[in-house]
Amino acid sequence: DMPLTLDPENRIYRSPMVREHFLDKKPDLSKMIRLGSNENPYGPPKSAQKAACDSVVGGNRYAWQEMFDLVDKIAKKEGVSKESIMMGPGSSDLLEKVALVLFMHGGNIVSADPCYMSLIQVAKSVGATWKAVPVREDHSHDLKAMEAAVDKDTKLIYICNPNNPTGAITSGKELLDFCSRVSEKVPIFVDEAYIELAVGADTQSMVSLLQKNKNVIIARTFSKIMGMAGIRVGYMAAQPAFIAEIEKITRGGMGISYTSIAAASAAMDDNEFQGMTRKLNHEAKTYLYANLDKMGYKYIPSYTNFVIFPIKIAGKEMLSKMTAKGIVVRSFDIQNKPWCRVSIGTMDEMKSFVSALGTIS
Ligand code: PMP
Repeated sequence: DMPLTLDPENRIYRSPMVREHFLDKKPDLSKMIRLGSNENPYGPPKSAQKAACDSVVGGNRYAWQEMFDLVDKIAKKEGVSKESIMMGPGSSDLLEKVALVLFMHGGNIVSADPCYMSLIQVAKSVGATWKAVPVREDHSHDLKAMEAAVDKDTKLIYICNPNNPTGAITSGKELLDFCSRVSEKVPIFVDEAYIELAVGADTQSMVSLLQKNKNVIIARTFSKIMGMAGIRVGYMAAQPAFIAEIEKITRGGMGISYTSIAAASAAMDDNEFQGMTRKLNHEAKTYLYANLDKMGYKYIPSYTNFVIFPIKIAGKEMLSKMTAKGIVVRSFDIQNKPWCRVSIGTMDEMKSFVSALGTIS
């Protein structure tokens, strides 16, 4: 028997992924080709590795000064005030904190369906209602329908652009108009985890709206373009009063370590690494597209480091067949149909994936 009932209404919507991993005795991830979590296969940048190692000697101190310096650097890059920036151990930490603070008294959250569920799951866990608005035919956000879904209990609109799990984008101008206007009524959270990988696409960061004092919150991560998913660094940019509210339930953002701060600061300066990531991601994605075309899989054009396509077998079956071939991918049911999402790894990893996929029907 459970000694303690933590959630009598069974509202915990958090992904049981980690626990399942132990229970199912899944194969050792370190021996697998890992194309399940949209990581960057080239990171961490050498510059960040060195900075992290060098920083360890200072680890007896809480890294307040170093964090202030990093916040300052980020604020300058984004063209916002220092008070508008908050760091976290990965952007997911910030997504969760925002969800906890905004939804502790219920309310509803409006987002696209499908979209990245982390913030929504936490909001639901503390009692919020999710108002899911299906994406349009081209998988972009249906902004009109999202606006129509807003009511007096709506505490937040969540927009993931480029979107996960689809990889699709919403036109920059359209989104800018929407956020500028609708944020007067309700705060809008724009998760830009993949924005640096959407180069050349018709989209843009919503940070410019923050500069105009709009009620938007923007989240960014060092996990994707910077190749540091395991180092755990992310930040959010929002109005200073909003940041101050969220910081009340943290230690002023001191959830991130001295070494993470050092690595993040070095990675920010490493344009060469970021450029290489974009180039190699593009090449391996182009290779994957060509092979999906050959095999007749109709993927959604992606502005990220992952691609999703409908499959003819159940998602679970796909995962176990891929696992048997030493490859980790993800599956999603979208409108009750199974899809496979594969992250863009190195060219060699994509070749392994393509050859494995060729044997699966
Ligand atoms: N937002 C989106 C859209 C993501 O896909 C992810 C990670 N997959 C995150 C946020 C969280 O990333 P992290 O916590 O590593 O910054």
